[in-house]
Amino acid sequence: MLSFIFISFCLIVTSLVIFLLSKIQASKEKDKQIETLKASLEEMDEQAKLIMRTDMELNKTQEELDKKISGLDILQKLSRDISTTLEEKQIFKKISTEYLEGLGFEKSLAFLWNDLKREFHPCLNLGYNDVESEKIKISVNADKDRYLDLIHSGKAASSVSIPNNFLTKDKIYQLFGVRSFIICPILAQEGNQGFIFVGTQNIEACITEGEQELITILTNQIGQTLDNARLFEKTWRSQQELEVKVEERTRQLTQTLEEVGKISKRKSDFISSVSHELRTPLTSIKGYAAILLAGKLGSVPDEIKNRLEKINRHSDELVHMVNDLLDISRIESGKVNMHMESLELKYITDKVADLLSEQLKTKNISFSSNLPEDCQKILADRSQIERVFINLVGNALKFTPENGKISITAHRSGKMIQIDVTDTGFGIPEDAQEKIFEEFFRVENTINQEVKGTGLGLTLVKHIIEAHQGRIWVKSKLGEGSTFSFTLNTA
Ligand code: ADP
Repeated sequence: MLSFIFISFCLIVTSLVIFLLSKIQASKEKDKQIETLKASLEEMDEQAKLIMRTDMELNKTQEELDKKISGLDILQKLSRDISTTLEEKQIFKKISTEYLEGLGFEKSLAFLWNDLKREFHPCLNLGYNDVESEKIKISVNADKDRYLDLIHSGKAASSVSIPNNFLTKDKIYQLFGVRSFIICPILAQEGNQGFIFVGTQNIEACITEGEQELITILTNQIGQTLDNARLFEKTWRSQQELEVKVEERTRQLTQTLEEVGKISKRKSDFISSVSHELRTPLTSIKGYAAILLAGKLGSVPDEIKNRLEKINRHSDELVHMVNDLLDISRIESGKVNMHMESLELKYITDKVADLLSEQLKTKNISFSSNLPEDCQKILADRSQIERVFINLVGNALKFTPENGKISITAHRSGKMIQIDVTDTGFGIPEDAQEKIFEEFFRVENTINQEVKGTGLGLTLVKHIIEAHQGRIWVKSKLGEGSTFSFTLNTA
C-alpha cells in the first residue's frame, strides 16, 4: 500500500515537473516571439520615419521645382521684354515689381559703373524710397572697390554664399533692409558693368541655388541687351553722322557743280563771242588778200603774191578753227538743235569717200566699207553726222602712211548700231588715248609736227555723238593702226 502511494506520489511529481517544464519552455518561446515582434515593430517604425522623411523631402523638391518652373516662366517673359529693347534706359524699366515678386523678391536695385566719373549710378529701384536709395548709393560708392571686385570675380553673392573679401551679410541686411538677398554682377562688354541686387524681408525665405541661377540668367540677359543697346546707339549715331556728312558733301558738290556749270557757261559764252569777234576781221583779212591777189589794186610781184597766198591759207585755217570752236561751244550749251532723220549709212560713207577721193588717191590708200543689212539706216542729223565721218576718215587719212588701208564697218550692238573706222596708221600711244577727245589735245610726236591740225576735231566729234545719245571710244596700237568706234540709234 505504501509502495502504491509512493509510486502514485512519484507519478504525480513527475507529471508536475513535466507540466512545469513545458510551461517554462512555452514562456521562453513567447518571450522570444515578443522579442522578434518588438524588433519588427522597431523596424517598421524606422521605415515609417524614413517614408515620412522621404515624403517631406519630395514635397520640398516639388516645391522647389514649382518655384523654379514659375521662375523660369517669369524669366522667359522678362527676357523677351528686355531683349526687344534697344534703348539703355528702357531696359531696366522693363523689370517691374510684378516680375520681381514672381521671382520671390520685393526689393531690387541695380547699379552701373561709370568709368569716367569712377562711380556707380543707380538705374533700377524697386521697393525703396528716395532717401533709402540715396543712402544705399552713397554706401555702395564708399565700398566701390569691393563691389568692383565682386563684378570682376563674375560670381554672385547671396545670403547663403558670400565671398570672403566682400561685405558681411549683416552689413548687407542692414544696408538693404532685407533678410535674404542675391547680388549678381552684370557682365557686359563695352564697359557696361554693374550689379543687380534682389532681396526679401521674408524671414522664412532661404535663397536656393535655383534662385541664384535664375538671377544670374537674368543679369546675363541684361548684360547682353545693354551691349546690343550700346552697339545700336553707336551704329545709329555713326549713321546720323554719315548722313550729315553725306548731306554736307552733296551740298558742296551741288555748289561745285553749279559753279562748274556757271564757269562752263561763261567759257562757252566767251568762246562764242571771241569767235564772233574774230570772224569779222578774218573775213576782211581774207577779202583784202583776195583783192590784192586778184591785182585789183595794181599788179603784185610774185614774192608778195606768195606771202598773200600764205595769208589766205592761214586765214582759212583760222576760220576753220573759229568755226569748230563756235560749234563746240554751241553744242555744249545745247544751243544746236539736232534735226534727227532716218539716213542711209551707205549714202554718207560714199559721200565721204567721194569728198576725200583726191587725198586717198594721192597717198594710195584703199578705202572700203562693209555695212550689213541690219545696219543700213541710222537716226541722225545729216550735216552733223557727215562732219563726224569727215573728221574721223580725214584723221585716218592724215595719220596713215602711203599704201595703207581705211575701212568702215558696222554691226548691231543691242538697240544701237556700232560703227568702226579703222586705219593701218601710226597708232596712238596708250596714255594719250583718253586725252585725244579733250580740246586742243594733239599727240606730241614728229608726225604731228608735220601734219597740221588744231586738236579740236575729235572734241567736236565727241560732242556731236553725245548729242545723238551715242558713245565714242578708241582702240589703238602704235605702229599698227587705230579703230575709232561710236554708237548711233537705228532708224
Ligand atoms: P587734229 O587732228 O586737228 O590734231 P583731232 O582732235 O582730230 O585734232 O585729233 C587729236 C589728235 O589725236 C591728233 O593730233 C592725233 O595726234 C591723234 N589722232 C586722231 N586720229 C588719229 C588717227 N586716226 N591715228 C593716229 N592719231 C590720231
